[in-house]
Amino acid sequence: MQHQTPRETHPSEILRRSIENDRVHSAFLLTGAGVLPSTTARDFARALVCREGTGLACELCDACQRSHVDEETEVIALDGKGKRGPTYRHIGDHPDLLWVEKGAGDTRITIGQIRDVQAAMRLGANEGGRRVAVIDGAEWLNPQAQNALLRLLEEPPAGTHLVLVASRGSAIIATIRSRSVRIRFPMAEDAGIRDPEASEEVVQIVGVLDALRDRSVGQLLDFAEQYRGARAPAAESVTELIDVSAEWLREEVKARVAAGQNPSVRSLDAHHSLQQLRRDLIGRNANPQMVAERLLLGLRDAVA
Ligand SMILES: [Zn+2]
Repeated sequence: MQHQTPRETHPSEILRRSIENDRVHSAFLLTGAGVLPSTTARDFARALVCREGTGLACELCDACQRSHVDEETEVIALDGKGKRGPTYRHIGDHPDLLWVEKGAGDTRITIGQIRDVQAAMRLGANEGGRRVAVIDGAEWLNPQAQNALLRLLEEPPAGTHLVLVASRGSAIIATIRSRSVRIRFPMAEDAGIRDPEASEEVVQIVGVLDALRDRSVGQLLDFAEQYRGARAPAAESVTELIDVSAEWLREEVKARVAAGQNPSVRSLDAHHSLQQLRRDLIGRNANPQMVAERLLLGLRDAVA
């Protein structure tokens, strides 16, 4: 159920139409850098509970008045442990619109925050309509919290919608991604893997790829060692390695074209190989460490 955003349609227009046509999926993943994905998620959540159902908040109905966010008012700071503040807040003071983000001073969105939101989502809508939870900065969910969230995605209570906002899709586990409608913000794609907000894992992978030409086979095999161990988490990490590598390779090709060179046949072949590795990993349960090894050695050959 992975949708691509057509280039000609603006993300917020896709979301608006889903409400207008009353075909709203239970989970969305909005990806891109900057504040636009977050504000779009907020507007979408508000539009979902608007009485008019046109796909945009009418600003006049009682629901819109409740969900209105006064920019002047200071937002309630969250706390992952729920001590110095709540674990989630509402959009405006609408009881059916929940908002989760990293607590002030926290390094992660906690599993406790996810559990609280899940409990609230299962209660059923106060106003008898839809119930929406936005998880802003979903790249700050650790895998354990993401797996907790997965349960909500697998059996979404009727009328509930989950909107994840993340700077990069690859920060989200594949099992969540595959259950969500993916909305990409084209502006943000430019920042790509060089995004200063990128996770530590992404930065590490990009560092290895940038230095591929100078790495020995032994060094690359050593790097692939980290993908050994329990299959599920290792497969998630290798999925990220594949995603980042695909983007990195695209950049390589683009740079060559910009420099007036033709992209080498080998780099185009490498693209196909990455897709094949993804199929092997997900469809054929290939060993993650071996997939990582084949990927790194293959890419090294391609760019040598
Ligand atoms: Zn309204």
